Amino acid sequence: MVSEEILRRRTFAIISHPDAGKTTLTEKLLLFGGAINTAGAVKSNKITKSATSDFLEIEKQRGISVATSVMGFDYAGHKINILDTPGHKDFAEDTYRTLSAVDSVILVVDCVKGVEEQTRNLMQVCRMRNTPVIVFINKMDREGRDPYELLDELERELNIHVRPLSWPIGMGSTFKGVYNLYDKDLRLFTANKQQLTKDVIAIEDIKSTELDEIIGKQSADTLRSDTDFLNEFYENFDLDLYKEGYLAPVFFGSAIYNFGVGELLDTFVKIAPSPQVVEATQREVRPEENAFTGFIFKIHANLDPNHRDRIAFCRVCSGKFERNKLYYHTRLDKRIRFSSPTSFMANEKSLLEEAWPGDVVGLYDTGSFKIGDTLTEGELLQYKGIPSFSPEIFKEVVNKDPFKTKQLEKGIRQLTDEGVAQLFVQQPGSRKIIGTVGELQFDVIKFRLKQEYGATCDLYPMNYYKACWITSDNKTELARFISIKGSHIAYDKDENPVFFADTTWVLRSVQEHYPAIKFHFTSDFK
Ligand code: GDP
Repeated sequence: MVSEEILRRRTFAIISHPDAGKTTLTEKLLLFGGAINTAGAVKSNKITKSATSDFLEIEKQRGISVATSVMGFDYAGHKINILDTPGHKDFAEDTYRTLSAVDSVILVVDCVKGVEEQTRNLMQVCRMRNTPVIVFINKMDREGRDPYELLDELERELNIHVRPLSWPIGMGSTFKGVYNLYDKDLRLFTANKQQLTKDVIAIEDIKSTELDEIIGKQSADTLRSDTDFLNEFYENFDLDLYKEGYLAPVFFGSAIYNFGVGELLDTFVKIAPSPQVVEATQREVRPEENAFTGFIFKIHANLDPNHRDRIAFCRVCSGKFERNKLYYHTRLDKRIRFSSPTSFMANEKSLLEEAWPGDVVGLYDTGSFKIGDTLTEGELLQYKGIPSFSPEIFKEVVNKDPFKTKQLEKGIRQLTDEGVAQLFVQQPGSRKIIGTVGELQFDVIKFRLKQEYGATCDLYPMNYYKACWITSDNKTELARFISIKGSHIAYDKDENPVFFADTTWVLRSVQEHYPAIKFHFTSDFK
């Protein structure tokens, strides 16, 4: 039973630079999958520019992203779980953590813009974990860049090999459709946003005159020479190489016109991996193991003052999760029962009785979870997840209301546990420094501290270039470094020492002067 459920599951994320078409593609996948009936049901979780200074608006928009955090649906005998990721760069850490809970990704690239900043960052995280990637080159209805050039850019900039499985015929106003190199059939493009066309014309032999009749002699000849070249130049698609995260199959389409989406979905369920082995600090855990295990990859607080609950998102890694069963919270060494866990189907939440590896369970939480916490049936286990990255913007927290010191402390602890930002404490005086990847988080922090904890604070910018974790095999050297650089040392939430570098130059110079000290830019040095 367990293995059957595992084999039919596909848990993945759609990632892209903002505006490449992630929301549109997500919605179209749900439409093709029969999970929703009308377009417009999936709301973009994009935080619009005008909202960046309006906290309530941010939260309203973040609220939307909770409803669509996980979209589960059944398709062709498979259970598909799409994990949504925030598009805004300032919430990149949220996205990285979500990537620790998926078995594969679909990367959407805009054919006009090609590889963009967030494409690079997100793919770097996928490469760290060898996550299998399928590339969808979107907006083929527009005049984009030459497809060969796009493929070259993907390989060069994302450090991955690509293999086109379909090939476009024309582009923009002359876009006629795509030829599927794998199934050897032709799909003709019609600019129709409403209909889900699945008209496929089988063309076994690309040399047949039938092709000239359908797409015209000139296009047919171009397609013939393109396929000759592709088959010669690119190695055959190898499923194992894809699963190792080494080779990415590429599809072309136009999400807004529903084109290429059905094909993408059909190939996806065929080739994408079912739930995989997950690494814990102690050992590797196989999904088909009997005992339930899972970890928290996201926590979302409800900002509605009448519903002050939080939802912790737990990815099931092995065994079967059951409602009302006692589970072991390994960090707190405590047993907890969940009476109303939720599942996420399309964009509805509902009570869940059981869940299998690959599924995401929403657990109501009153403050017992931190990002990365592990649940088991009793085994002492800690999943590794995604490391924290060294933040880039730093601000010192200064309490404005001495009567609310406790509230401020608690608020800051909880918000950083949720993963909104990283907290560093400097001695003497417990000076608190908050580090983030974007300005937006500071707005969120200030607003939430006031709303939820009644605490007010000032946030003073600190001009550091980077914070890096420091370790050394030589304990005396480490202690000496910490004592010399005292004013630039603080401790993270797990009491690990962190060095704040003022500039790149300073960082380079201390690295040269203190060869016994190791400087780390992600928290996975342990
Ligand atoms: P996201 O930021 O990646 O979620 O991008 P969206 O899905 O919100 O799309 C950004 C913009 O691109 C929207 O205006 C979409 O209507 C448009 N768009 C998405 N897919 C296509 C497509 O295939 N062709 C064209 N021309 N526009 C598209």
